[in-house]
Amino acid sequence: SSSDDEGEEYLFKIVIIGDSAVGKSNLLSRYARNEFSLHTKATIGVEFQTKTREIDGKEVKAQIWDTAGQERFRAVTSAYYRGSFGALVVYDISRRSTFDNIPRWLDELKTHSDTAVAKILVGNKLDLDNIRDVTVEEGKKLAESEGLFFMETSALDSRNVEKAFDLVIHDIYNNVS
Ligand code: GDP
Ligand code: MG
Repeated sequence: SSSDDEGEEYLFKIVIIGDSAVGKSNLLSRYARNEFSLHTKATIGVEFQTKTREIDGKEVKAQIWDTAGQERFRAVTSAYYRGSFGALVVYDISRRSTFDNIPRWLDELKTHSDTAVAKILVGNKLDLDNIRDVTVEEGKKLAESEGLFFMETSALDSRNVEKAFDLVIHDIYNNVS
């Protein structure tokens, strides 16, 4: 491109939070590398992956952080949240308790983040619709009342994964550009 904006770059930190085993790591690997794993990898410490995309001819880098197992010990630290512009708050549609814990995760996010954070509520494991434990309406209602976007996804079959990340990235972009 030969526009005046050439060379302009954005870097957005985005965090993924939610209970253990809801599919956070697989949502990230599906989005960043188009990979899915049947097994939870025991990773130590915090990890992130970067995906670059173009919006309005500008390079937008999403640096997406994964809790890497810390959520089991309620030890997600403020360093994890620091500087984040966006968040995916994830539950498992087949496990009620993970949905019931969403308000706690939203509180954590509010406590640790400085400014307005673009947020999406994600009901993952949409492929397990036959053993669903949370209705679409319940997800929508919670998202509406908390001012979040909402989407049901499947990291397994890829449904809506890109859409969910893109919603957050576009919302951040619209807020800062
Ligand atoms: P995390 O602890 O939130 O990072 O969850 P993981 O990504 O490690 O996933 C936990 C388990 O759920 C693993 O066995 C995954 O294979 C499985 N899983 C993740 N996403 C999906 C999904 O969309 N559908 C189904 N059926 N299983 C999933
Ligand atoms: Mg994980």
